[in-house]
Amino acid sequence: MRSQITHLECGMTGEKLTMGTLHNLSPKGYPIVVRYDLEAAKKAVTKDALKDRPQDMWRFRELLPVRESHNIVTLGEMWTPLVPLPTLAKRLGGGEILVKDEGRLPTGSFKTRGLAMAVSMAKELGVKKIAMPTNGNAGAALAAYATRAGIESIVLCPDDTPVVNMAETELQGARLYRVNGLINDCGKIVGTGKAEGGWFDFSTLKEPYRIEGKKTMGLELAEQLGWDVPDVILYPTGGGTGLIGMWKAFNELEAMGWLKRKPRMVAVQATGCMPIVKAYESNARHAELFQNARTVAAGIRVPVAIGDFLILDAVRDSGGFAIAVDDDAIEKARVEVGKTEGLLLCPEGAATYAGYVKALGDGRIRKDERVMLFNCATGLKYPMPEPTTRLNKDAPIDYARL
Ligand SMILES: *Cc1c(COP(=O)(O)O)cnc(C)c1O
Repeated sequence: MRSQITHLECGMTGEKLTMGTLHNLSPKGYPIVVRYDLEAAKKAVTKDALKDRPQDMWRFRELLPVRESHNIVTLGEMWTPLVPLPTLAKRLGGGEILVKDEGRLPTGSFKTRGLAMAVSMAKELGVKKIAMPTNGNAGAALAAYATRAGIESIVLCPDDTPVVNMAETELQGARLYRVNGLINDCGKIVGTGKAEGGWFDFSTLKEPYRIEGKKTMGLELAEQLGWDVPDVILYPTGGGTGLIGMWKAFNELEAMGWLKRKPRMVAVQATGCMPIVKAYESNARHAELFQNARTVAAGIRVPVAIGDFLILDAVRDSGGFAIAVDDDAIEKARVEVGKTEGLLLCPEGAATYAGYVKALGDGRIRKDERVMLFNCATGLKYPMPEPTTRLNKDAPIDYARL
């Protein structure tokens, strides 16, 4: 069980970069991707051998960057279940709907996958202090894993970040600052403070390993489906790490001969913050800054994504598309899935359901296609409507009507 990593390269130009040293962006200013010897990986492990390993995000070590096992920083990152939505699938008249429920992970969101991997690599490379801008869940995951690793963490978030995210971040040992701006404003502070504060910049895609952590979603779901994939994956896209990571997983598995087909990748955004959708629709390779970004789905309120071209490439290469849904549709989807199937989604997860309903309606997803939605965080982290129906124990009760 050994990493088959060979080198790093610029995600835009392919320029080779040395591993074993710290990197943020490539010399040309783009995100860096990790490459492996896939032939060697194929020889080093079989599908059967994998079955004997723990069902967690570290099991496919050949395709992960961590070299020394003792550098793995863990809080128990188990496999997450694929929960079907049979009643809604029937009601919609479409194909099977599976929800990969990432809310079960430590820190309650899939940010755990990315940050567990990135912090493990930071530990392996001797980092002592990490800073990060966040909309909430990433900061919480960084706090937890950095503290676990004995690394200092500084987290900057927009002032209106959900209180639960800010509180969990502090309680898990980070120094948290609320900034009067959006995530890109927080990012600027981290960027300029890097030199003076001696921080390592952990902004989305500004270090090479978060993608590798998120990649495990793709490896995992393929194995869960018996080395197959759904026809379509709908992913709530902010910085896009997960979409990029999963697409990378499918390409690596295909190169190893472990996958015969790949899914269509659909980027779901909110109409109040849809830079990727706009770029997709105008056939652009890069997205423009989305002005006045606002949506209830805080995790996808990312007005500018440095990996925009990687998201758009994955969406286009896979034959997928990008779609936006409004906040009303997101809230309605959350209620509908919860009340019908008993599965409480986060707003971003609800956005993927709303996106599915919309795409099924306009024919971009066919009725015979099996889809996978991503519930990226536990619904319990987000505000819920306060129940208002009361019962007076001292008055006569109409039991038949309760
Ligand atoms: C971060 C986040 C997203 C977006 O994920 P990316 O991979 O960065 O695009 C979606 N939903 C939630 C709840 C998140 O925390």
